[in-house]
Amino acid sequence: MKKLSYDVVILGGGAAGMGAIKGVLSQNASVLLIEREPSTGGVLNQCIHNGFGLQVFKKELTGPEYHEMYLETVEPFDAMYETTVLDVNFENSVLKAINAAGIYEIKYGALVLTTGARERPFEALRIPGSRPSGIFTAGLAQHFVNLENHLPGRRAVIIGSGDIGLIMARRLTLEGVEVEGVYEIMPYQGGLTRNVVQCLKDFNIPLHLSTSVVKIHGRERLEGVTVANFSDGNPVSGTERFVKCDTLVASVGLIPENDLVDKNIETSNDGGAVVDELMRTSVDNVFAAGNNVCIHDLVDFVTIEGETAGKNAARVAKGQKIPKREGFFKKGKGIRVLSVHYTTATVPFKMYVRVEHPMNMAMLKMNDTKLKVVLNAKPSEMIEIMLDPTKYNLKGEIVISATEVKK
Ligand SMILES: Cc1cc2nc3c(=O)[nH]c(=O)nc-3n(C[C@H](O)[C@H](O)[C@H](O)COP(=O)(O)OP(=O)(O)OC[C@H]3O[C@@H](n4cnc5c(N)ncnc54)[C@H](O)[C@@H]3O)c2cc1C
Repeated sequence: MKKLSYDVVILGGGAAGMGAIKGVLSQNASVLLIEREPSTGGVLNQCIHNGFGLQVFKKELTGPEYHEMYLETVEPFDAMYETTVLDVNFENSVLKAINAAGIYEIKYGALVLTTGARERPFEALRIPGSRPSGIFTAGLAQHFVNLENHLPGRRAVIIGSGDIGLIMARRLTLEGVEVEGVYEIMPYQGGLTRNVVQCLKDFNIPLHLSTSVVKIHGRERLEGVTVANFSDGNPVSGTERFVKCDTLVASVGLIPENDLVDKNIETSNDGGAVVDELMRTSVDNVFAAGNNVCIHDLVDFVTIEGETAGKNAARVAKGQKIPKREGFFKKGKGIRVLSVHYTTATVPFKMYVRVEHPMNMAMLKMNDTKLKVVLNAKPSEMIEIMLDPTKYNLKGEIVISATEVKK
């Protein structure tokens, strides 16, 4: 077994991992990236649509362009690609990894987890009927179309109006697939408004809210689906109708990827790694950033978070003391997601939240203190809150809430 030692080891080379590399190098610490794919970039590589980079580069870029431009800002670093981590020993700060060249034992001063997210599988929907070919998750369909030049079928139905489903509706249409419609079980859209406009409205693709698929038809190949209206999460009897299609694309959410570590670090009930604003997890020398912390809409915030994680990981690896946690955030009324759960109350930082349901005018509060009013708040759009310890008391239990207010 080959033995290696680095100040910081980064697991996962997507946008967050690349940010973390930059953060580590800014502190003159040694860094090793471990990535299971043959290159950096993560999901950016298959996102050939534009909409990336407005914050970091002040330009609208495609995913691969963002990847390339960001990488140009990062100094050379050590990396092991096509490498899988077998085990992490948190007590001794050592991990085992394997690739075609053999097994490695790698000692780290600090570890940064930037493993992204995986798609919620179609099977999680438990839709009755047969299981013919022609059923894909949205990310898999995107991989086939954008990276492998394969068309999944000719006439598609999309379940779920999250950003990936919306983007795939447009992508498939551009490739000549007839997209019959996007079906969303909730009474509101799941993705960003800009994507509803640019991916559906501009291409006359119908969005059916409060509607979903209740049955799959076909033996060898998908022949169609039965859809029905939904109320309070249940199909409304008598509203069923058959929709002919040979392709079903399920875009039903992302799950933070923490399987390797979730027995050792604290995770939230949606599976994300629980961190403070320094991006430190419940283990002092383990940091996390990106979609394995919370699912982000914008890559720019992911790389910025990665930079913070990398910088603080390097500080810990070099023996610097970093402050202990003083405050902890709880989800209050109207809040679905919080991006950080703890704070050291030493530096100003950004917290991202998602509301539980759409609100025309949402009042965001921290305990009884008013933070901001947000017009047209939607679960699909992350809201940024700037928290400054010189302005607010950030110690002890802090409940973040969102309530609808009248104009
Ligand atoms: C379809 C889609 C469209 C999007 N569109 C936009 C957009 O228009 N604009 C925008 O700003 N943002 C967009 N986003 C959001 C943004 O791209 C992502 O939030 C961001 O790229 C996620 O970065 P990440 O590093 O957290 O995760 P990922 O990119 O998923 O990277 C994780 C990396 O970790 C590796 N990995 C995982 N587990 C292991 C392991 N055990 N060992 C080694 N390596 C591992 C993976 O191979 C991968 O390379 C989109 C996202 C998706 C999915």
